[in-house]
Amino acid sequence: MMWSASVEPAWSIDGFREAARAALRAEVAPEHLDWQAGGQGGLLAAPEVQSASAQRGAPRVPTAFVELAETVLCHRDPARHALLYRLLWRIVHGERHLLSVPTDGDVRQAMQWAREVRRDSHKMKAFVRFREVPGEQDRFIAWFEPAHHILHRVAPFFARRFAGMRWAILTPDASALWDGEVLRFGSGGMPSDAPAFDDGEDLWRTYYAHIFNPARLNPRMMRQEMPTRYWKHLPEAQLLPALIQGAGARVRDMAEREHALPKRRIPVASMPPPASELSGDRSLAALRRAAQGCRACPLWEPATQTVFGEGPEDARVLVLGEQPGDMEDLSGRPFVGPAGKLLDRALGELGIDRAQLYLTNAVKHFRFERRGKLRLHRNPELLHVQSCRAWLAAEIERVQPRVIVCLGATAALAVFGADFRLMERRGVLEHLHDGTLALATVHPAWILRQPDRLQDEAYRHWLDDLRNVFTRP
Ligand code: SF4
Repeated sequence: MMWSASVEPAWSIDGFREAARAALRAEVAPEHLDWQAGGQGGLLAAPEVQSASAQRGAPRVPTAFVELAETVLCHRDPARHALLYRLLWRIVHGERHLLSVPTDGDVRQAMQWAREVRRDSHKMKAFVRFREVPGEQDRFIAWFEPAHHILHRVAPFFARRFAGMRWAILTPDASALWDGEVLRFGSGGMPSDAPAFDDGEDLWRTYYAHIFNPARLNPRMMRQEMPTRYWKHLPEAQLLPALIQGAGARVRDMAEREHALPKRRIPVASMPPPASELSGDRSLAALRRAAQGCRACPLWEPATQTVFGEGPEDARVLVLGEQPGDMEDLSGRPFVGPAGKLLDRALGELGIDRAQLYLTNAVKHFRFERRGKLRLHRNPELLHVQSCRAWLAAEIERVQPRVIVCLGATAALAVFGADFRLMERRGVLEHLHDGTLALATVHPAWILRQPDRLQDEAYRHWLDDLRNVFTRP
């Protein structure tokens, strides 16, 4: 006898679990079950499997199957429910370790679909671009067309990443809405429901054009990483044809210039765009918003959010750290962790109000290595500093501080260049090429890492360096 099972929405693990459990209890074999997911009706009106009488208790299902099913259900292939039920039937009828047999046809197919869903989820995280709703401050909408039903799977990532914004992501099948506290899902939308343009995109395009390195261009890899089907979501994609076309000439130009430049200069392609080239709104708020969507180096992905600078636009002193730490990454604010507390202590001793300073980092995303539940700090590499340098340059050009205080070697590298030796030049006020004064000293995290017996002396020495800046008229 044939039975029918329905799952609504088609990617719902709860809907699948309920129907599959009823079918297993009634001992309905896979070939006698017609899956009618997502509103697809079967040819024959078979009775619903939930009405079948139970022949046995509910079987125990391995966690690995549930995890696989959650992912595979997001795939668009209409045969996925039948495949999953077939696997489940085999697992509870004696093939307990079926999932560890990668050569099995059903297992191979399920794994393949799971991979495609994970890849699509990764692309969605990378290529969703929010646009501000005109006339509504801090409200953003993104239009996105995923290959599979992944919105409910990926939306929590955006809720964590953009916790402080109110946003919606619209797709053809469903929408997700975050009001700052609760994530809700609704029906699908149309591209015209999202704003067509955002001021911040000009900033991002200018930035992208400057960090685009023609010497590293590999169009095949690029299309693999950034498939053309996503280009319509990306403001920077409009630049790509021209950038790719001009890449050859730019590489030749770079090679000629590099010949003339002293060794170890930061490559021309990574130099920041001058503020005059940033069109549209160039306020710190606009920069901060544009940087939230930055994907210029790989650090954005595992981190929680971009930690942009904070402080008054007319601050006299800009304090530059290395990168956000664990607490900064979670809170979205610079210098709030243990090193930030030490900085607060030093400022207190010098009689300086932190609110008068502009505090930021050379690299805006937290670089770490996961060890169990811990996220251990890792130093950013030169590539990360170079990629992030345009944001720092834009902050400096906006704030126009009289003095920049670099805390740590990474911050000093971003300001003085790769030749700078921190321990040789620490505590010395120097003029940058534009007349701004800059001083480099150690990072407060370095002081905290010193053995107890040396820590006090290290702190006093650091305080003397800072005094050089803060006691100037
Ligand atoms: S670290 Fe800087 S360059 Fe890299 S993704 Fe983050 S903001 Fe962009």
